[in-house]
Amino acid sequence: MKFSELFCPTLREMPSEAETVSHQLLLRAGYIRKAGAGIYSYLPLAQRVLKKIEAIVREEMDRAGGQELLMPIIQPRELWEQSGRWDVYGDEMFRLLDRHQRYFALGPTHEEIITSLVNGDVHSYRDLPLLLYQIQNKYRDEIRPRFGLMRGREFIMKDLYSFDMDEAGLDVSYLKMYTAYNRIFQRLKLQYRVVEADSGAIGGNESHEFMVLADTGEDAIVFCEREDFASNVEKAACVYRDEGPHEDMREMQKIHTPGMRTIKDLVDFTGEPEQRHVKTLMYFADGQLVAVILRGDRELNEIKLKNVLGCNQLFMADDDSVRSACGAGFGSLGPVGMDIKIYADQEIAGLRNFTCGANEDDYHYINVNPGRDFLPEDYVDIRNAVEGDLCPVCGHPLKAARGIEVGHIFKLGTKYSQAMNATVLDKNGQSVHIVMGCYGIGISRTMAAAVEQNHDENGIIWPIPITPFQVIIIPINVKKQEQMEAALSLYNELQELGLEVLLDDRDERAGVKFKDADLIGIPLRIVIGPKALQENQVEMKKRWENEIYNIAIDQVAGTIMNILKEG
Ligand code: ATP
Ligand code: MG
Repeated sequence: MKFSELFCPTLREMPSEAETVSHQLLLRAGYIRKAGAGIYSYLPLAQRVLKKIEAIVREEMDRAGGQELLMPIIQPRELWEQSGRWDVYGDEMFRLLDRHQRYFALGPTHEEIITSLVNGDVHSYRDLPLLLYQIQNKYRDEIRPRFGLMRGREFIMKDLYSFDMDEAGLDVSYLKMYTAYNRIFQRLKLQYRVVEADSGAIGGNESHEFMVLADTGEDAIVFCEREDFASNVEKAACVYRDEGPHEDMREMQKIHTPGMRTIKDLVDFTGEPEQRHVKTLMYFADGQLVAVILRGDRELNEIKLKNVLGCNQLFMADDDSVRSACGAGFGSLGPVGMDIKIYADQEIAGLRNFTCGANEDDYHYINVNPGRDFLPEDYVDIRNAVEGDLCPVCGHPLKAARGIEVGHIFKLGTKYSQAMNATVLDKNGQSVHIVMGCYGIGISRTMAAAVEQNHDENGIIWPIPITPFQVIIIPINVKKQEQMEAALSLYNELQELGLEVLLDDRDERAGVKFKDADLIGIPLRIVIGPKALQENQVEMKKRWENEIYNIAIDQVAGTIMNILKEG
């Protein structure tokens, strides 16, 4: 491809709306353009990268026994009613009406469609196992679409669904996918970690996430360096050990704390550290008000709370409801004398003489003690794990890191086949529910994650397996015939070897062309200048190194092939 013909509108300036590196660079380097919040066009360079990611994903899905199909994006409401998710999926689902006033969903995921498809045409154990997948756009009306391709409202996903006779079959399918996913992210040359995950709204009982490690990642993970344990903090169990002996209980006292609403205000006021304060949060769990208390320095984990309460819907309570139930507003709440069910984080059990709100504006209690001054409904694990928490497997302190979730695999079991009555006949002629799994990879998010992990101040540094072009040839002066001739002949030679080559034939200053080559991230750069040509030599530079090598023109192809082979 000649650069002069390429549609690659690079920008000089950093786009102001972009907050993360991948968003900035993909916009600046002419890969994507925004059409609306969370909705993007993929320009030719991006399309080349996406096709390469898809090709690797496809190869590994096929290797694992997957068969590709393509299902509709527009999905009838009735199917979602059968699974019970039309009402629970919530605002994240895009819904549309046809001319007959019938509702449809724009597919956020495809469990309903595929379960109904398989149920209609698969009748016997002989037809299983089945692994079916597609690569397609998904639609989710995210509350906060952001970071460009990272959290879009329209995005590309590979989704595979497995169908087995029983749990043992599901274990086999799950392991196949687990292995295939590892192969995929290794082949993509991304640094990643597999972590245990919560199975969330999709349901099911075992789940792993594939996290590309990056400081800007939206997910927090913890892992143990000693044991084979790594988990999303959403899921990681917090190990609690009562460290007793405890200090003596002092007499509880009410103190005047005018205008103090936050833990920080109280720390400044009392001089006691955050962990000796207790904060109280209020939630509606399926419509019922509950109080949640945890140490001042901890973060509540809503997913754990939802699991503990076993509720479908969990919302933070509003100010008015809290005030009428407790007689005080947020910032002055506390468990003492509270007439509402209280769920206490397990650490609260070991706290002595802590400070908390007195359920009266501008007042707090000091020297509060659990058991003596209040009794929670239960002590439960409802906080996020943090660095330094103990490994649930070996007890060694955990490390923390941030990651971008690029893949997610779930054991669904019979959740959907029961809801939608999807059965097959087993060997004995008995009808049994099909056991399912689902396995997603965010293709467009993976492209953004690759940039997030592979860049420098000058631009993107594509991993070789997914670069839009492997080599860029830059003649310093396109008006010099001998430079252009040498460039064209090398361009043809490399293309004949099957390489993807960009020839920068633009009549621009060399500096501009170097900047663009770095910005769009092409791994290998060949510069053809006058001096080099007199000695039959060109300059080669690897995007990820600073050195410039002089190599004989007739050695270029061989050298490049070797570098690409090493990956
Ligand atoms: P998240 O927690 O990031 O919202 P999820 O758990 O909702 O992700 P899944 O339903 O498991 O995601 O979807 C499978 C994969 O699709 C994810 O691992 C991710 O790579 C990708 N994905 C999910 N939501 C988005 C989005 N809004 N934009 C881009 N990719 C996404
Ligand atoms: Mg999501």
